[in-house]
Amino acid sequence: GHHHHHHHGHYDHDDHAHHDHHEGRRIEAAKQLIGQALRNRVESVDHEFCEPGDEDTFFVADLGEVYRQHLRWKLNLPRVKPFYAVKCNPDPKLLELLAALGNGFDCASKAEIEQVLRMGVDPSRIIYAQPCKTNSYVRYVAQQGVRQMTFDNADELRKIARLYPEAELFLRILTDDSSSLCRLSLKFGASLDSTDGLLALARDLGLNVVGVSFHVGSGASDPRAFLKAVQDAHVVFQQAAAHGFALRTLDVGGGFCSDRSFEEMAGVLRAALDEYFPAHSGVSLIAEPGRYYASSAFTLACNVIARRAIEDAASQSVSSYMLYVNDGLYGNFSSIMFDHQNPVAKVLRCGGRTMYDTPAAHALEEPAEGIEYSIWGPTCDGIDRITESIRFPHLLDVGDWLYFEDMGAYTKCSATTFNGFTNSHDVIYVCSEPGARALLNL
Ligand code: PLP
Repeated sequence: GHHHHHHHGHYDHDDHAHHDHHEGRRIEAAKQLIGQALRNRVESVDHEFCEPGDEDTFFVADLGEVYRQHLRWKLNLPRVKPFYAVKCNPDPKLLELLAALGNGFDCASKAEIEQVLRMGVDPSRIIYAQPCKTNSYVRYVAQQGVRQMTFDNADELRKIARLYPEAELFLRILTDDSSSLCRLSLKFGASLDSTDGLLALARDLGLNVVGVSFHVGSGASDPRAFLKAVQDAHVVFQQAAAHGFALRTLDVGGGFCSDRSFEEMAGVLRAALDEYFPAHSGVSLIAEPGRYYASSAFTLACNVIARRAIEDAASQSVSSYMLYVNDGLYGNFSSIMFDHQNPVAKVLRCGGRTMYDTPAAHALEEPAEGIEYSIWGPTCDGIDRITESIRFPHLLDVGDWLYFEDMGAYTKCSATTFNGFTNSHDVIYVCSEPGARALLNL
């Protein structure tokens, strides 16, 4: 089934309306499934009597959303093979689906490589895309036959010459990442005035450089960063040829968002690739998308564990409430700190009524309408605040539930157990796409 997706990769161009109609229905069906899973779980919890942990935060993951994202990738970047960036969310079912779809994997450490190899994925489908690697991990991948890895400096080349001279090396170049959420280029990437020297050194050391990689920064927003990076990569391909390397692969990294900006980003990248690395050049193209696949597939539900009314001194009436929920910045909302995300709360259950995705749950005509809340995590730290100010039409209290969409990227993976709260929350899997269900034997 690895090539299954090719049949679905191209929609009928004459029939966009038809396609949109179907897409709308599929997304509606997905919402229903997610809502059902959320509802079943929260309605089973009685916060007056439940055991510690029963009211814990939990995820609902829709693997059908991952599948739809895959089709969308194939449609927009048909020449580029995705190597999913495991660091973004190493959820086992997510990885299983991506493996079944034929994707490769970008791993950053021994543990990630081990996890992917244990699923039976061939070592050739892994790239160890960490330019500054641990010695013992390099010995580990040498032993496992994971050959593809990145480098961006001379010390790393000498390390690889000593520990794994047969490795297939990608020279990671610097990019302009100034438009991205998470900048990476202050830490990694060879500048274009150092690439020639690095290639000369690689040649002297008898190493095997096979490609160029870059990353425009995670959560990139300016498609021109891709154009410039592809142009720079093309220069490095020519430099490499002058040193006798026939480079075979360009790795365009990650940075793709799952929102509507993807089509524009992919369009600019596709045009740049078609110009500088056309199909007849024989260069294969790969990418390392993380958040693109993971973000929208996961919804998080949190329980309100405490509430504090804030009184207005003058009028002696309640002006707003502080809500304390059982997950925060040290937990799955680590994305606020590390990934500059802005999760938006919605009401899942209030006063014994479940209202996922109903207009009543979050419809406010005016920004100033409704009751004002700030939302806080469960730890003792004042930094642990999820939302400074949000309004809902409902009076929320202890035992009610909130939910947050788009919580799949850089959330769970960087959660801590600070203050003794768990960081291993349940994931309830649903699958809104029959095609994905078939691949997973669900
Ligand atoms: N590849 C590398 C080398 C990275 O460092 C990252 C993220 O930090 C990714 C891929 C994934 O990036 P994104 O989630 O923005 O697609």
